[in-house]
Parts: sequence; structure tokens; C-alpha cells
Amino acid sequence: MPPAPGQLTFSAPRRGKPPRHLADLTTEERAAAVAELGLPAFRAKQLSTHYFERLVTDPAQMTDLPAARRQDVVDALLPTLLTPVREMNADGGATRKMLWRLFDGALVESVLMKYTGRVTLCLSSQAGCGMNCPFCATGQAGLTRNLSTAEIVEQVVAAARSLAAEAGDAGPDGVERALRVSNVVFMGMGEALANYKAAIAAVRRMVSPAPEGLGMSARGITMSTVGLVPAIDKLAAEGIPMTLALSLHAPDDELRDELVPINTRWNVGEALDAARRYYEATGRRVSIEYALIRDVNDQAWRADKLGTELNRRGRGWVHVNPIPLNPTPGSRWTASDPQVERTFVERLRAHGIPTTVRDTRGRDIDGACGQLAASDLQQPLAGTPSTATGPAPVELGLPAPAAAD
Ligand code: SF4
Repeated sequence: MPPAPGQLTFSAPRRGKPPRHLADLTTEERAAAVAELGLPAFRAKQLSTHYFERLVTDPAQMTDLPAARRQDVVDALLPTLLTPVREMNADGGATRKMLWRLFDGALVESVLMKYTGRVTLCLSSQAGCGMNCPFCATGQAGLTRNLSTAEIVEQVVAAARSLAAEAGDAGPDGVERALRVSNVVFMGMGEALANYKAAIAAVRRMVSPAPEGLGMSARGITMSTVGLVPAIDKLAAEGIPMTLALSLHAPDDELRDELVPINTRWNVGEALDAARRYYEATGRRVSIEYALIRDVNDQAWRADKLGTELNRRGRGWVHVNPIPLNPTPGSRWTASDPQVERTFVERLRAHGIPTTVRDTRGRDIDGACGQLAASDLQQPLAGTPSTATGPAPVELGLPAPAAAD
């Protein structure tokens, strides 16, 4: 049932758990899991190499494992978690949105964005979201369930696989190399910090060196939140130098109470103080995400207030990403006029705040966390797998990028 206005949901409804997967397990747990199958511990490392390094789940390709046991091992530890439903390409293939069906019929999306010199994956951490931001289609549909660690990691592995299958970029030596996922942003469906345990374990799998994990740089990972203050402080203490993105969307409590209902629990000042503490603990500059909504939060005085609030907590610790809102069909919320957007940016810069308008690819993708599901959630796809058999790729027709993310 959709949530009532302002209603927050922190605990995911109880549903069956996805099957256990290698990516859910620590190194020790993997050794124990292969022991359960009657195999020596070193088989866990071999299996990890296949999955995290070679991106392989086909038993036929695991030639270093005993032929008679490969299928058992794959069945037990590499079950299929994501089934492709639909893929949409835009920007000549530089932007690819993937809709996945999970084992229980829940749907999530991830979006791959290729830029010069880097590839960013925007992934989902929950099916639905309990934070109920009124301008967000995902929020309006409510929280279905938390994703498991492996369901989050699998989005990265699937993206890495699809990049590896493509022709690569030619380097200065003229040799083509496959692109790799260099950046991950938790800005798809869900409030990642409301699914803290799985989200942080997924980050650990991403940054652990192969074959324990994917060997990504923590600096390429951005954790997004609407401002769950205790979880921000917990994240700061993890010792992983990832970037924190705080979805603020308003600098004053009166408006933010309405736009981001979590504000009634932890207000603007408390969220910004936590963001500042995160910077102090990690040395990582915090991103403030600000979806510009016409005549709602885009007034020049609000840019001034935001600049003042940020500077009150120090200089050089933060930058702001205004994002033209991706309107949900039929919604009263829409994007600001370009001139209003320009003025908002100029006012922030006048306060000395580094400000970058997000790539317009984000309009359909990460305009705010969770907005990427807008079009799919208009259709009753969840639990209707018969509709979910991958039609031909559809061109989104998005505008060309305006700025880097
Ligand atoms: S904007 Fe983000 S936090 Fe808010 S409801 Fe949507 S997905 Fe959840």
C-alpha cells in the first residue's frame, strides 16, 4: 500500500530472503561454505577468482575446479540473483539503463553512464524506498524490501561483464582495452543507509582486492543519503574513504519537512553537522544534492541561505550539485526554468561554494536517488513476470550531457 504523506518506513516488510551467494560472504564464510560442500578451503579462493576477477559464473569455464563438482558449487554459491527484464540505451549507447527482476519478482534498476576516462554505475540498494519524498516516484510507491549484499554487488558485476563484452577504448598505444566500472553511486532506488548492513558489506566487496572483492577504489564510490544522521556517523567510522552525498533539496526546515520527510526526524542543521563530521573523519569532500523544483525550492534567497549554512560550518569541505528535477509523469513537481537554475548556481558560487549542475543524463537517471524508476513504476510490473521478457532496446531520447557528474 502506498505510504501516507510524510510517513516514513525504516524497517523493510518481511519477505523471503534471496538465496545465499558468494558475494554475501566474507573470506572466512566462503571457506566454511565450500567446506559444507565437502571441498577444501582453497576452492573458495578459486571460486572467488572466477566471480570477482573473471566475472564468470559458468561452470564450464571453471576448469581448475573438479569437473564433477562444478555445477554443485555454482548452484550452492552463485545462484542467479538478477534476471534482465529490459534494457534502454541513450546518448548513442553512452547511457544504459537496466531493469532487473529479483528472485521474488521485485524490480530494481541500475544505470551505466560512460564518460571520457571513467564509467559510473548508479545502483539500487532497496526495492522501493521508505523515505517518501513526495516528488519521487520510487518514494510514492513505498518500500518493498531491502536488497541483500550480493544483490547490490551483482549490479556492479553485471555492469562490468557487459563492459567487458564490448569493444574497448583504444589507448595511446592504439590497443583496445575493455572499459571498467570506475565509479559507483548509490543513487538508484532506495535509501542505502536504511539498509546499512548490506550496503556497507557491498562496499567492502567492491573495494576489497581481488579475489576477495572487485578491487575498486573507495574514492570512486559515493554513498547517498537523505540524512540518516546516526548512520552517517557510523559510516564515517568505517575507515573507507568513499564520498558522502547528502540529498538536501532545501536549506530551511519548513520546506525540507515537506520535501524530504526524514527532516522531521533529523533537521537541516543536524544533517549538515553530520555531513561536516563525515568530512572531518574521512577528509572526503561532501556532495550536497539539490533537485531544483520550479517555484518550490529554486528561489535565489534559498541559494543564499544554503551558501550561508554551508560556510557557517567551514570552507572547502563541500560542493553542491543542483539537479534539474526529473518530473514524474502526472506530478505537480517539475524542473526549474534554465534561467532560474543559472541564477541559483551563480548565487551559490558567489558564496564561494563549488557548484556543478549535474549531467542532464541524470534527468532520467539520478536526478534524485530513486527517480530512475519513475517510468517503470507507472506499470504494474512487480509480480507480473510474464510481462518481463526483454523487448528490444528502446532509445530514451535524452538530451546531451551538459556537465560532468
Ligand atoms: S528521493 Fe531517494 S530517499 Fe527520497 S523517496 Fe526517492 S529514493 Fe527514497
